[in-house]
Amino acid sequence: MSTNINTLETPALLLDLDKLESNMQFIVEKAKAYGVTYRPHIKTHKSIDIAKRQIEAGAIGLTVATVGEAEVMIDGGLKDIFIAYPISAPSKVQRAEKLLNRANLTLTVDSKEQAEMLGTYFTAANPVEVWIKVNSGLNRCGVEPKGEVLALAQEIQKIAGLHLTGLYTHAGQAYGQHAFAGEFGHTITHAFGRQCNCGLQGCYERYASTTALIQEALKVNPSFENGKVLFEYWHEGAPDAKQVITNWVDEIAIGLINLVHSFNPSTIIVGGGIMEQEVLIDMIKARVDAQMLPSFKEVEIIKASLGNQSGMLGGVSLHL
Ligand SMILES: [Zn+2]
Repeated sequence: MSTNINTLETPALLLDLDKLESNMQFIVEKAKAYGVTYRPHIKTHKSIDIAKRQIEAGAIGLTVATVGEAEVMIDGGLKDIFIAYPISAPSKVQRAEKLLNRANLTLTVDSKEQAEMLGTYFTAANPVEVWIKVNSGLNRCGVEPKGEVLALAQEIQKIAGLHLTGLYTHAGQAYGQHAFAGEFGHTITHAFGRQCNCGLQGCYERYASTTALIQEALKVNPSFENGKVLFEYWHEGAPDAKQVITNWVDEIAIGLINLVHSFNPSTIIVGGGIMEQEVLIDMIKARVDAQMLPSFKEVEIIKASLGNQSGMLGGVSLHL
């Protein structure tokens, strides 16, 4: 029997299944492409059903924040759980101990005292896997990189019931002063413009992203199915392809001008796969230059030399 949305009891979770599945597939494939495995945190959904779908999609296990969440997931049939918080209350450790024979459980350790306390509950015959939490700038918990990590690892090795199998961190540098980053993509460049996934209208990313480019291109010509094809048409002289790209460059330029006028940087580095189209940088420079206040015109706009991997490699380098 189908359910009518008007008769659902609230609160109720409504999901677009196609989007959910394509997002799950996207991240799994992205991880595979970089040769890493993927263990999502359930805090984004807190749902056994979605957790199972993530495992089916290719996740190797789950990350949770509390023993209670681990219990719920294991009761729901999930078998590989990492508790990403250094638990230290005896009652919680006792509950975690009960989960050991029901799932592959990994706990977090961030001090010698806590490790020793865990060691009174787990034995050589019944050991638990642990990962060391490393503080990489968020300053909530974790030991400092290098020396402190090594010292704690050596302490853990002395404790028979703990089996050290990894390190983990929560990247604090990605966060702004209130524990979340700025959202330049969601600055509004068009009043009451296109609807954005974030809930607002007229966001920059709805106009200046590659996704936006292709959406606009497809409206003009169904053959323009991706950036490569669109640029091929343009190089062959197709006027509709040129118009779409020119409009899109104008949208990019607006955002960059706002950035320059806000921060007065010496250089702007533009990344993303589409910037492999050599001609784009020159077009963007020309449009920015034409509309910027004269005193800001010395700003340089250059292409990221690492191409589409710049963002990821930059994030990684913060932790090395
Ligand atoms: Zn938005």
